Amino acid sequence: MSIDAQDRELILAGVDRLVRERIAPRAAEIDASNRFPSDLYAAVADIGLLGLWIPEEYGGTGPDLVTPLLVSERFARVSSSFALVFSNCGDATTPIVHAAPERLKREWLPRIASGEVIPCFALSEPGAGSDAAAIATRAERRGDEYVINGRKCWCTNGSVGGVYVLFAKTDPEARHKGVSAFLVPRDTPGLVIGRDEDLIGLRGSPTTELVFDDARIPADHLLGNEGEGFRIAMITLDEARLNCAAMAVGAATGALEHAVAHARDRVQFGKPIIEHQGLQFLLAEMAAELAAARALWEQAIAKLAGETSREASTYAAMAKLICTRTAMRIAVDAVQVLGGYGLSRAYPVERVMRDVKALEIFDGTNQIQKMLIGRHLQKEGLPF
Ligand SMILES: Cc1cc2nc3c(=O)[nH]c(=O)nc-3n(C[C@H](O)[C@H](O)[C@H](O)COP(=O)(O)OP(=O)(O)OC[C@H]3O[C@@H](n4cnc5c(N)ncnc54)[C@H](O)[C@@H]3O)c2cc1C
Repeated sequence: MSIDAQDRELILAGVDRLVRERIAPRAAEIDASNRFPSDLYAAVADIGLLGLWIPEEYGGTGPDLVTPLLVSERFARVSSSFALVFSNCGDATTPIVHAAPERLKREWLPRIASGEVIPCFALSEPGAGSDAAAIATRAERRGDEYVINGRKCWCTNGSVGGVYVLFAKTDPEARHKGVSAFLVPRDTPGLVIGRDEDLIGLRGSPTTELVFDDARIPADHLLGNEGEGFRIAMITLDEARLNCAAMAVGAATGALEHAVAHARDRVQFGKPIIEHQGLQFLLAEMAAELAAARALWEQAIAKLAGETSREASTYAAMAKLICTRTAMRIAVDAVQVLGGYGLSRAYPVERVMRDVKALEIFDGTNQIQKMLIGRHLQKEGLPF
């Protein structure tokens, strides 16, 4: 079920209220403490936002592609960390909705929608980041179980997670065709939740190592069929890339708002600095580039909402590349507009600069997005 325009407006009005009253006042503290904001996660669940990815029969109000992206964008205007805490739930829920057996959907999806269980997406490994088909984590079928051995890293929300969508090789000789997806509950014997990374940005959204040491899960915890894991990961990544673009557009909008407000207020050489043409042109470029990035993101959403196709995937890659690159430039320029204050933790733009760097790296680095776009050009020609 997709949500109609009127309901979407109501949801977004509730989101705006939550952002204003609860998230914005906490954004600096979440970053400084590097603590997962469980009370805000519960608040988001309470107003039904975690159910947006989940069909009604499993306790949700979706699945709806568009609304969660608009929600992520709004959260990111004040806190990219919180936008990631929220949107990662979608990245990890989509494979369950698409590929889990009925019994697992009934067991886990209502608990995800209510916020009781946080889902995570575990693909990357110390030896396999961009080259995801090179993962070495092994899942071996033994009777009615799979026995899993290996190590995952960079798992968003990993240390607070309740269930993990895990990608492991069932055929270690094959590349992507040997990858299968599994649902692994946190209390699985042999799963050890490792340390959280201490990152410069997106703090408060833990990024965690997971170790599987003869971890045993029932054979019916396979998502889809053996060998379908890579396809399942790729379906998820199209949406994840639009989410990443959503965070970029939101964070850049927040940074630009701060920069414009500061430039109208700050007086140097006897007038507000926005009246100095050198600075006004910088702000004008930031606004124009952001408008272009936003338009591409909206076009990519419309494509993916309308069809699952190679062209829609290429649009998702183009939106991720352009929006995150633009956000990084705008964040750096916003610091420039604030001068020395831009570097102070008393103002939010230095946090935006630290946060948005990660957006150029996860969900496929921007080099990987260029590879995907380049492959489309090579095989199909222009995507428009
Ligand atoms: C904050 C954060 C959260 C994350 N959350 C998750 C998560 O929840 N789940 C998960 O599974 N992973 C997650 N990741 C991991 C993320 O997806 C990887 O970091 C990313 O895919 C890049 O892999 P890597 O870091 O190993 O870099 P590498 O793959 O080692 O790349 C290093 C550099 O080489 C470049 N490069 C690599 N191959 C090529 C090529 N063929 N051509 C040109 N350049 C190339 C890259 O673009 C990059 O600049 C997260 C990462 C971060 C930072």
